[in-house]
Amino acid sequence: MAEVKLENVSKIYPNNVIAVKDATFEVKDGEFMVLLGPSGCGKTTTLRMIAGLEDVTKGYIYIDNKIVNDVPPKDRDIAMVFQNYALYPHMSVYENMAFGLKLRKYPKSEIDKRVKEAAKILGIEHLLDRKPKELSGGQRQRVAVGRAIVRNPKVFLFDEPLSNLDAKFRVQMRTEISKLHQKLGATMIYVTHDQIEAMTMGDRIVVMKDGIIQQIDTPLNLYNFP
Ligand code: ADP
Ligand code: ADP
Repeated sequence: MAEVKLENVSKIYPNNVIAVKDATFEVKDGEFMVLLGPSGCGKTTTLRMIAGLEDVTKGYIYIDNKIVNDVPPKDRDIAMVFQNYALYPHMSVYENMAFGLKLRKYPKSEIDKRVKEAAKILGIEHLLDRKPKELSGGQRQRVAVGRAIVRNPKVFLFDEPLSNLDAKFRVQMRTEISKLHQKLGATMIYVTHDQIEAMTMGDRIVVMKDGIIQQIDTPLNLYNFP
């Protein structure tokens, strides 16, 4: 079970920028929710608050009906995939994927099992010994997703994970992330400024503009498909 709820959440940065204003929405267990809007509308800030990487100025964030405003990121059972992949350049693919589990003191055998399972799911078993610089953009993105999968989190957060990829890989990875969602059945929140990505991937879409939520609905209802 993993539900995420925001209740009247606002974020004002120290420079007085109001990045998010009075955001209220609920992501159901197993749902794929997209946060859609132009650059600067507050999507990343919203995601970072859910992950606990950014303090909430006002309002409450709930995970499974528990207020988590004061819960540190590592105790939120959430994994985030970043736009720039954030891989460690000096570590192999294997070590990159294992790192978060090592930090959390998982036994080596369990780490090994999880890394190899995730690598299999993502089709990167043959790349485990490579360094990030020896990978294509799409392969790097898979490693970044793999690092999230091995943690087996309740909730996955994706921050524009495909925006650095070529158009061709972008379409392919879109499909792969949707398949992954079906396979894992996990709750996912996915940030993008790309309408097509939102329409093709989201169970529902939160449309944001200037820090304010404009609409929350299914792609079908939002875009009035014939
Ligand atoms: P998006 O992800 O939709 O591009 P962001 O959440 O990154 O939007 O940014 C929302 C607003 O907050 C923007 O006006 C941005 O300039 C501002 N902002 C983001 N991060 C910071 C920060 N650390 N300090 C001050 N302002 C910020
Ligand atoms: P440490 O540096 O913590 O000793 P190692 O890199 O020696 O960790 O790896 C420990 C275990 O992880 C190995 O016994 C092996 O089973 C597995 N492992 C490490 N690298 C790979 C890899 N590239 N492919 C498959 N398994 C690996």
